[in-house]
Amino acid sequence: MTTPGSIHRNIPDSAGTNAFEVDEDFAPLLAVYLDHDLLDRILPQFREMGRLVGEELERLALSADKNPPALQVRTRHGAPADRVVKHPDYVELERYAFGEFGLAAMSHRGGVFGEAEQLAPLVKYGLVYLFVQAEFGLCCPLSMTDSLTRTLVKFGSQELIDTYFARLTSQDPDELFQGAMFMTEQEAGSDVGAISTTARLGDDGRWRLYGDKWFCSNPDAELAMVLARPEGAESGTRGLSLFLLPRHLADGRRNDHRIVTLKDKLGTRSMASGEVQLDGAVAYLVGDPGAGFKQMTDMINMSRLANGVRSAGMMRRSVNEASFITANRTAFGRRLADLPLMQRQLHKLLTVAEQGRAMVFHTARVLERADADDEAMRRVLRILTPLIKFRTCRDARKVAGDAMEIRGGIGYIEEWSDARIVRDAHLGSIWEGTSNIVALDVARATRREGSLDALGGYLRELLAEPGVDGDLRSTLEPLLDRAVAFMTTVAHDRDREEDVRRAASSLYHMTSAVFLAWEDARMATLDPALAGRRAALARDVIRHRLVPVDPLVPTDAADPLVAR
Ligand SMILES: Cc1cc2nc3c(=O)[nH]c(=O)nc-3n(C[C@H](O)[C@H](O)[C@H](O)COP(=O)(O)OP(=O)(O)OC[C@H]3O[C@@H](n4cnc5c(N)ncnc54)[C@H](O)[C@@H]3O)c2cc1C
Repeated sequence: MTTPGSIHRNIPDSAGTNAFEVDEDFAPLLAVYLDHDLLDRILPQFREMGRLVGEELERLALSADKNPPALQVRTRHGAPADRVVKHPDYVELERYAFGEFGLAAMSHRGGVFGEAEQLAPLVKYGLVYLFVQAEFGLCCPLSMTDSLTRTLVKFGSQELIDTYFARLTSQDPDELFQGAMFMTEQEAGSDVGAISTTARLGDDGRWRLYGDKWFCSNPDAELAMVLARPEGAESGTRGLSLFLLPRHLADGRRNDHRIVTLKDKLGTRSMASGEVQLDGAVAYLVGDPGAGFKQMTDMINMSRLANGVRSAGMMRRSVNEASFITANRTAFGRRLADLPLMQRQLHKLLTVAEQGRAMVFHTARVLERADADDEAMRRVLRILTPLIKFRTCRDARKVAGDAMEIRGGIGYIEEWSDARIVRDAHLGSIWEGTSNIVALDVARATRREGSLDALGGYLRELLAEPGVDGDLRSTLEPLLDRAVAFMTTVAHDRDREEDVRRAASSLYHMTSAVFLAWEDARMATLDPALAGRRAALARDVIRHRLVPVDPLVPTDAADPLVAR
């Protein structure tokens, strides 16, 4: 179906809707965050991605989800094959993401969309925010490739960069080398310091890896970053080194590691995740031997951020679907969208989804400045990353589930996307660090790196900018002081570890409310007709997340902002 949305016997179907154009705040927000000339050049790409999401990409994603990859262990002649056989529709999704849109290349080199330089982080994140509204699974290999390249360029030797950079950033499917990250072992998931994979330096001066990696997404990638412990190195994270593991060696021979099995997963079924055994595989040391964990953290943080972007995108998809359904389905002779309880339900979904979007779009701005050596922004980024990973990913689970319910019974049926999105949404808060682990990381960034002070100072600066709604400013400033004090207390007092998640949630809500208030001011400058839209969302965050509401009285009487 290609018509933009249709209704058959009271069953609304949004297929054919342009995901960019239907989303009213998207273009104005890009104008808030991106340079005007760049925006003019890049807008057609957003429109095209939005169109594809509503048509071709959605069709491919539904099919790829139902046709998961398979592991071919041997050829029909009995020779070792060790090959992941991907469904053609998944391969077509790869072509769009890596090829046509250059999503893994645009942060590293010029040339994508004919641009002379690499593109601002928000161009990539904004396009991924759209792409993921159709396909989630492939976003993992995409982000792995993108962040592996960044880590390689940051810490790898010039020789390694020269050897692999062009392939990693290629838009030609035949030339492209995808990336992966092999870290987790059976006894070492959250507890990375327990890794037992060993690195042995041979007489030929080459490192060889021995061990078992328990969760490896995109396991047949041509390159993987691997954490291993050189023989004799100390225990814990300080004894770990980072290695680049090629699937093929320079002479074309297969390296000595193999995919043992593929996991049968709840979600991300389009994309392969497997177990990998390292039997003396040749690998190249990246950076300093004792700095492996620190360097890998850089890669993990980039993929944690990407996780947040995906979760925010999936929430937006859920809101778009829920809006379309409720505008077009009737019950009891009324449009669902006109029913008070449904309006409330929709509004709550929208607020949570827009918090996520404000967090990731604004973080792209912070990342750009951090990468330009702004030390304060580096510290702000350090704490925003686990905050987003913690809360946006958790929120996506609930928003996806609630949107499924809004479709009614067919929301539960696999021909529609809701069930897939619910399955996919649950992964964001497990991999790359579970909710507990990333909340603890927010506390660590506070305790050890002065990141909370930097974030607090930055949020105060944003609130002080001209145009920010005065009422919102005076409500948010004292709440900000309290949220910062709460996190400071729990971060420094180990006896209060059980409160870390609560403190991280408060900080997330606080930060998102400030970003929304700031976006409102900027949007109003660009188009006065849009004044108040984002501010209303900021008020909702305050109302529902930051100030206590009496559960025993009707809504208006319980609402401190209304009562004020
Ligand atoms: C589909 C999928 C794909 C994956 N792909 C990859 C990949 O490509 N590469 C890779 O390296 N890994 C990958 N992983 C692994 C993933 O990152 C880990 O599963 C995750 O980090 C959790 O580790 P674990 O499974 O060992 O659980 P554990 O670390 O054992 O955690 C179990 C529970 O204990 C809790 N917990 C642990 N420590 C603490 C603490 N200090 N305080 C409070 N609670 C705690 C956790 O929150 C969790 O709820 C993948 C996982 C999945 C599901």
